[in-house]
Amino acid sequence: IGNFWNPIINIGTFYNSLITGTAYLERIFETLDEKPDVIDKTDAYVLPNIKGEVTFKNVYFRYNSEREVLKGIDFTVQPGESIALVGPTGAGKSTIISLLSRFYNINEGEAKIDGHNIADVTLQSLRAQMGVMLQDTFIFSGTIMDNIRYGRLDATDEEIIEASKSVKAHDFIAPLKDGYYTEVKERGSTLSAGQRQLISFARALLANPKILILDEATSSIDTNTEIALQIGLNKLLQGRTSFIIAHRLSTIKNANRIFYIDQGIIQEQGNHEQLLELKGLYYTLYHSQFTFLKAN
Ligand code: ADP
Repeated sequence: IGNFWNPIINIGTFYNSLITGTAYLERIFETLDEKPDVIDKTDAYVLPNIKGEVTFKNVYFRYNSEREVLKGIDFTVQPGESIALVGPTGAGKSTIISLLSRFYNINEGEAKIDGHNIADVTLQSLRAQMGVMLQDTFIFSGTIMDNIRYGRLDATDEEIIEASKSVKAHDFIAPLKDGYYTEVKERGSTLSAGQRQLISFARALLANPKILILDEATSSIDTNTEIALQIGLNKLLQGRTSFIIAHRLSTIKNANRIFYIDQGIIQEQGNHEQLLELKGLYYTLYHSQFTFLKAN
């Protein structure tokens, strides 16, 4: 694991989010233990600077068993497009984003970024252009300033404050007694879940990746933070291709396209209005889970 892990932390993207105790991470560790074959090919090349077009062509995937988890995933996402992945637990949403970050090798079919097969480029160059934010933001003991700087280690204080203003993190940081120099603890208990997420947004903006992957937190968040998150996220998504495992209705509605995943297949896709008109699976999900939020 050490060999695999260090470069990711060193490249200073917010892969640091991966140093959390989420089930997702545990799964990644399990896999790394079991599948040390996710390594660079001998002739792997450096992925050039990308625009952010992402294509999956007939992707099939199974973990260790015979059971297919993805059964022919096909899509092309344009640079700058935002995609919300929705659907029941176990549908394959996390698996899709894990394959895109190449935590596993695809069994059949291929994934391409700007026409480059992700299996052919170096892991480091691939991940350096991708930002991954998991549900539980990693916070280390130190100041808020240092925690945000983790997105890009050479960022100046001014750049950090600028980024924080852009994603609406500034509004909760500035009023603190020590502002950006407030000390936080590793478990981050001094910060709410929403505030930790705002910090991850500021980090992500500093890192400035072309492709953004976000597993949106499900924890309940107060209304003010919710609004800040919504504004901050919209800012962060500008000019980037994004894949969001979305739990908040506002995020789903704002996405350019929604992929409704079930049983390893994209069952429906379109924007919120188009999918409601279909009166299919998304329509049913919306009316069973989000009806109480319709006023929004
Ligand atoms: P979702 O994100 O939509 O909830 P996942 O992609 O996490 O779905 O899971 C899809 C299927 O793959 C589920 O049946 C899940 O149990 C299985 N799965 C996920 N991760 C692993 C793993 N590391 N090993 C074996 N099976 C897994």
